[in-house]
This record gives sequence, C-alpha cells and structure tokens, in this order.
Amino acid sequence: MILADPTDFVRTSSAVAEDWQDELRNAVRQPVELCRILRLPQHFEAAAVEASRQFPLFVPRGYIARMRPGDVRDPLLRQVLPLAEEFTDAAGFTRDPVGDLASKRESGIIQKYRSRVLTITTGACGVHCRYCFRRHFPYSTVPRGPDDWSAWIAEIRRDASIDEVILSGGDPLTLVDSQLARLAEMIAGVPHVRRLRIHTRMPIVIPARVTREFTGWLTGLRVTPVLVVHANHAQELSADVQQSLTSLADAGVMLLNQSVLLRGVNDDADALVELSRRLLDCRVLPYYLHQLDRVAGAAHFEVPVERGISLVEQMRGRLPGYAVPRYAREVAGEASKQVLA
Ligand SMILES: *Cc1c(COP(=O)(O)O)cnc(C)c1O
Ligand code: SF4
Repeated sequence: MILADPTDFVRTSSAVAEDWQDELRNAVRQPVELCRILRLPQHFEAAAVEASRQFPLFVPRGYIARMRPGDVRDPLLRQVLPLAEEFTDAAGFTRDPVGDLASKRESGIIQKYRSRVLTITTGACGVHCRYCFRRHFPYSTVPRGPDDWSAWIAEIRRDASIDEVILSGGDPLTLVDSQLARLAEMIAGVPHVRRLRIHTRMPIVIPARVTREFTGWLTGLRVTPVLVVHANHAQELSADVQQSLTSLADAGVMLLNQSVLLRGVNDDADALVELSRRLLDCRVLPYYLHQLDRVAGAAHFEVPVERGISLVEQMRGRLPGYAVPRYAREVAGEASKQVLA
C-alpha cells in the first residue's frame, strides 16, 4: 500500500508503521518493468536483464517517483539501472576492493580502525546501488539473529578500546525495530561503548522507515546515537525525506551523510554544491565524499582523483566550511580512510 501523503508517515500511529515493509515488498525487481515505468528506449531492457543476473535490480517505487521519465541520464536512475558496461573488465577492479574479508574478526565483526568496529547486521538493502563495493559480498555467511549477536557482544565486551559500534550491512534499517532495538540494547549494555552509529540509506530511499518507534528507541539509549545516511544527489532529498530527517534531528540524533563520487551522477560542482545545500535543509552534515571503491562491474562510475580534488576545491569556494565533505578513499591496510581533499 502506498499512502497518498508520505509526509504523514513519521507522525501517525503504529497502524502505518509497517508501510515501509510494504514498500520493500512492492519494490521493482524486474528490469523490464523499471524501463517501462520510465519509458526508456527499448535497447536498455536486454542489457538491464543481463546485468541484473550478476547483482539483482531492486528499487522501491517511491524512489522511482523521484526520477524523470524518459531521461536515461537521470542521476537517480544511473545509480540503479543495470547497464551493459558492468561486463567490461577493468584492470584493478576486483571483488573485495577494500579488504573487508581480511578484516573480519572471529565473531564476524569487521575492525579496520582503532576504537570502532563495524557489524554486518543483514545482507538486505532498501535499494541496490550498481556501484556498491559490497555487490559481491558473501552475505550468506552473515550471522543472523540474537544468538549470533551474542558473539559480537562478547568480543566488544572483551576489548575496552572499542567505544563506538557501527551497525552496517546491507542496510540495518531493513530489520524491524523490535530486532534492532534489542541489538542496540545489547550494545549499549557494554559500559565502555559510548556511541552507536548506524549506516543506512533507508531514510533516503524509503523515508517512511523513520517511524516514531525507531526514533523512540534510538534516542532512549544510554549511548549517543549517530545516524549516517547515504545520498548522492539533491534530487534524492525530496520533501518526505526532508520531513523524516528533520524529525530525527528534532529528536536529538546526530545526522551525517556520506556520498560516493559517481561519474554521470554527481561529478560536477553544481550538483555537489546543491547536494550539500539540500543536506543542510534536512539538518544533515556532509561527512564523506568517497572515491569509488574499485569493485568489479563499476568501472564506468569512476571519476579520476585529480578531478575529484578539483571539484571539492570548487565546493570550498562556494559553501560554508562545514558543508564541504571530506573527500576520502579506502585503502586496504591503512589506519584510517585516506583524505584526498
Ligand atoms: C569506513 C569504516 C569505518 C568508519 O570510519 P570513520 O572514518 O570513523 O567514519 C569503520 N570501519 C570500517 C570497516 C569502515 O570501512
Ligand atoms: S550497501 Fe548501501 S550502497 Fe550498497 S547496495 Fe546497499 S544501500 Fe546501496
């Protein structure tokens, strides 16, 4: 069921709390359907079908509604439409470009950096982004449910240097609140943990996910909640997204955004400046602008680093300092993300 006025979601009763799950269930999975909804030239269909065999298509209808029909260059469509270019082999583009698998600890937690650990809570996402560095991640090995979580908690408890736990995925917000809140409580029960960070794209693709229940448990924890969303273009930040994000800000959640610099999506100064402005409208601080991870199948999204640096310099000349994200890339084995500009 799609409600007529999505901006009502966050404020209404729990009777509509499951609407976000309907949006997941009703998401478009057939490439041909996506192409027809958007009236794309027919030759896109066969390529989309072929490329979606490697990494399935998945796009909620509310996200499609923000695209311009008939425009194959639409910046939202580019992020989700499987293209023939995905089959181009490019030197240096691999299946595990950031060394995640090598950084796994015994319990399944990933630790690359001091004082914070990342947990893969689920393999599911609210949208499938073609450039995703996890498109080849073996999610079938992901622990599921409270029994597996106990091993994480035990490991975090043993290591007093960990003061922040990141819920990642997949997208943790594809899990229901009862489950997530339980995991969060377990984490907050470890005395040396001070912050719970959630990495999620759900408030951007399905803003109805920001339910009162979610905001309630998140802000009721002993630990400081930090929500890092993922938007790449101002056009993603529609009125209903703004409503959901500002409701979280009102409730006291620290909001940050990470973007990926993507050719054909946001690789020009005007687009990046407008993205930062819209994020500020939504009370979200731009945090990272990531250089694309070199994952096999995504080479056509790559922007040269020199051009990225020049774009960020242009942003710096046009925006307040706090609205300029750190341009960074992930280098396997380094002590932190490498800041490029
Ligand atoms: C990016 C990342 C983090 C978080 O890094 P910050 O610089 O603190 O945002 C933590 N763990 C892993 C494995 C990461 O890839
Ligand atoms: S993990 Fe994030 S970037 Fe990757 S497909 Fe899921 S939502 Fe998109």
